[in-house]
Amino acid sequence: MNPHGAHLTIDLNAIASNWQHLQSLGGAAECGAVVKADAYGTGLDYTGPALAKAGCRTFFVAHLQEGQRLRAVVPNATIYVLNGFVQGSAPLYVESGLRPVLGTLDEIHEWAGFARAHALSGEAAIHIDTGLNRLGLEPDVFRALAEDLENKNLGFTATLVMTHLASSETLDTAQNEQQTSLFGELVSLTPSIPASLCNSSAVTRKEFPRHAMMRPGYALYGGNPTPWTTNPMKPVVTLKAPILQIRDIPQGTCVGYNARWVAKRPSRLVVISAGYADGLMRLPPEPDKPVAEVLIGDTLCPVAGRLSMDLMIIDATDAPHDALHRNAPVTLIGGPLDIDRVGKTAGTIGYLILTSLSRRYQRHYLGQV
Ligand SMILES: *Cc1c(COP(=O)(O)O)cnc(C)c1O
Repeated sequence: MNPHGAHLTIDLNAIASNWQHLQSLGGAAECGAVVKADAYGTGLDYTGPALAKAGCRTFFVAHLQEGQRLRAVVPNATIYVLNGFVQGSAPLYVESGLRPVLGTLDEIHEWAGFARAHALSGEAAIHIDTGLNRLGLEPDVFRALAEDLENKNLGFTATLVMTHLASSETLDTAQNEQQTSLFGELVSLTPSIPASLCNSSAVTRKEFPRHAMMRPGYALYGGNPTPWTTNPMKPVVTLKAPILQIRDIPQGTCVGYNARWVAKRPSRLVVISAGYADGLMRLPPEPDKPVAEVLIGDTLCPVAGRLSMDLMIIDATDAPHDALHRNAPVTLIGGPLDIDRVGKTAGTIGYLILTSLSRRYQRHYLGQV
């Protein structure tokens, strides 16, 4: 019990329902789940089993360690490790039944050699880079390899060919069409191997072919995959913190470190237990703008000045005063303050709000696993 900590509620039923919604958009394609970075901060040990129970059979993590942790809680699922594999670590993948996503010839040759030496079928995915210039084979390298992959001549079994989009949430860019058509051309060389293109935003947009496997992450956790319109996903994360102290100050009083906020009118401040050590942003994206807002009752109230390590000061002057008392809950994430809005106010993206959710918050999970 941590009576100071903010309360973080994670709704596993909403995650399950978001996965089912994305699966329903996929037609015949299978909907996997990207659960890297502790399931985007929501807690892999809870979210993994909740997704498996909802029907998800294929998971994507970033690191080997994440895969090992996930394997312990979803014994039967297929697990891909997106960041490939580090030299010498192949035995650890086999031990936990994990599939690396291979993105260089070095990785491919090491994996193939290991599989041959141990007479393993060596299931793995192949990553092609179609324009993100991050991980994956150059298109020409894949072209040269395609026939051998298709005919299993390399000593291992490619079970997925994938690429990652650079701008799927952007409407007015030619890059989506370029990556999509290049990927379509490349995977036509390996027709027997399932292909995977779509992240969250792409799953929601008809112009992206689904191929065999979809890989949404953000939308599962309530992020808006369609930033140009209202969010079709259910909110997953709620964050509330109790009021510690209330203070009335006259006009002209300065507030917080370095006196960055000065009361323009007689003001009522409240202080809550959440600060930059909890993953919140310390400085506003623009001077004189609040770095965060909170909801007190139905009133949106801005943070006053800079965030401290463990605390923030809120200008609650406009809040209904009967809602202001010691221990009354203030909402940092929830309702109109969804993760996309919280991210925007902090000068970042909702993804970072999720992956920064503090270990110090008291966590509550809604829904049974
Ligand atoms: C993170 C990631 C995804 C999921 O992307 P979202 O935008 O969160 O849906 C899919 N594929 C790869 C390769 C990724 O790194």
